[in-house]
Amino acid sequence: MRCMLCENLSFSHICTPCQDHYLTPVLHTQTIASNVSVHSFYKYGDIEALLHTKHTPLGFYIYTILARRAFQTFAEYFTWQRPVASLSIDDHTRSGYSHTAILNKALQSRCIRPYYGKMRAKNRVSYSGKSHTFRLNHPRDFTCLPMDEEEIILVDDIITTGTTLSEASHCIHIAQKQLLFCLALAHVE
Ligand SMILES: [Zn+2]
Repeated sequence: MRCMLCENLSFSHICTPCQDHYLTPVLHTQTIASNVSVHSFYKYGDIEALLHTKHTPLGFYIYTILARRAFQTFAEYFTWQRPVASLSIDDHTRSGYSHTAILNKALQSRCIRPYYGKMRAKNRVSYSGKSHTFRLNHPRDFTCLPMDEEEIILVDDIITTGTTLSEASHCIHIAQKQLLFCLALAHVE
């Protein structure tokens, strides 16, 4: 096949030189809901075209590449005293896969156990392109299903205003678990 970015022959949808040049993650940290840290790996504007493949068949391969470069690398360096659960937000399957589940799966490691379908919104309103006020007025109403681990990492693809992750972190608090931090693929500046 040919690389999507440079059109050279490649074994992957994005060739290794292009991955190294364009997709080397840079960790960025922000705080939401006054005390929740969100670590993200890319600037939204830098990988916007790739993120737009979400919910298309091509998106499966693109998210797999991004997950490996960002989330898998993070998990390889992450250590903790006890096993930690990672929950992908709203990991419903669309176009045959869930993009947040792909990111979460890449965290599988000695210290992190990914779970799927544990953190889902009862209200499936889309926040895409909506104002912060709209988001606040239409809460997602998350439920968190039980698991053995006490400490949680939340996984989402894009952090914009932080409304979704704030609501999900509140849900974890209600479930009497401890949220260590959130991981997002990209942040909107
Ligand atoms: Zn290339």
